[in-house]
Amino acid sequence: MAIQTIAVIGAGTMGHGIAQIAAQAGFNVALHDTGEALVGRGLSNIRNNLAKGVERGKVTEAEMRETLARVRGTVDLLDAAGGADLVVEAIIEKLDAKLELFASLSNIRGQTAILATNTSSLSIELIAAAVEHPDRVIGMHFFNPPHLMKLVEVIRAPETSDQTLTAVLDVVARMGKEAITVRDSPGFATSRLGVAIGLEAMRMLQEGVASAEDIDKAMVLGYNHPMGPLRLTDLVGLDIRLNIAEYLHEKLATDVFKPPEILKRMVEEGKLGKKSGEGFYKW
Ligand code: NAD
Repeated sequence: MAIQTIAVIGAGTMGHGIAQIAAQAGFNVALHDTGEALVGRGLSNIRNNLAKGVERGKVTEAEMRETLARVRGTVDLLDAAGGADLVVEAIIEKLDAKLELFASLSNIRGQTAILATNTSSLSIELIAAAVEHPDRVIGMHFFNPPHLMKLVEVIRAPETSDQTLTAVLDVVARMGKEAITVRDSPGFATSRLGVAIGLEAMRMLQEGVASAEDIDKAMVLGYNHPMGPLRLTDLVGLDIRLNIAEYLHEKLATDVFKPPEILKRMVEEGKLGKKSGEGFYKW
């Protein structure tokens, strides 16, 4: 069955962007959040993104109009998800909240939709345990901002069916994105590799191998990374990185993810990166 209608649950940073690219790709989209103001903010963010696209000559006026006509907002979960072929969940990163939502989605009468989660770290298998048909549950990990980032990490849990995987890969292609397929494992592919490089860069800084600027320059000029790992950590937030490192260290049981002293100390001192004004750099 080809997917035509997509419900996006959660209209925040990621949800509105996912709704936008889905509508731009020609899908009918329902964007859901828990309050009118939150849905309204999501819709107006989509409108603003598209208007910027028009200004920059990336989107035509007609495309903007047609895209907006394909997205509707709703605070009613049943209204959003009841008629959807694919539901993409983009609510807060809390397992309990996701389990509750997936159970509600699973309880919708006659529901046959694929249920995808945009989680950046949680186990897809655990989330799938909340539903009646775990074969229809999958991870669709978009990157921020979804309308600019090319990658979608598609995460297959043990019970995800081939049909679910094929249908989701088709949606990703229709959205004009590139997919990678990853087995459900801590950190998937992107966080595991990205965090490993970031933590090693911190250990090198701690050991005085080179300055933060030079460690970053090594990866930018030597490996063509668009940004060095320490600057990237400043943008992501040192506290967020520390949480992920602790989680991966526990789950993967390798010292690759053991949080370096420098990271723990800087977080204790409130040096969280760009958002606090100082991290490995001053902002
Ligand atoms: P956000 O806080 O910006 O948005 C979450 C939205 O979900 C909020 O508007 C909130 O009101 C809504 N919400 C919460 N509970 C809900 C419920 N039960 N039903 C409907 N709506 C609900 O968060 P975000 O940054 O967009 O992250 C969403 C998900 O995407 C998380 O799982 C996160 O890990 C993942 N993610 C985030 C990024 C990123 O860079 N921000 C990147 C990739 C993946």
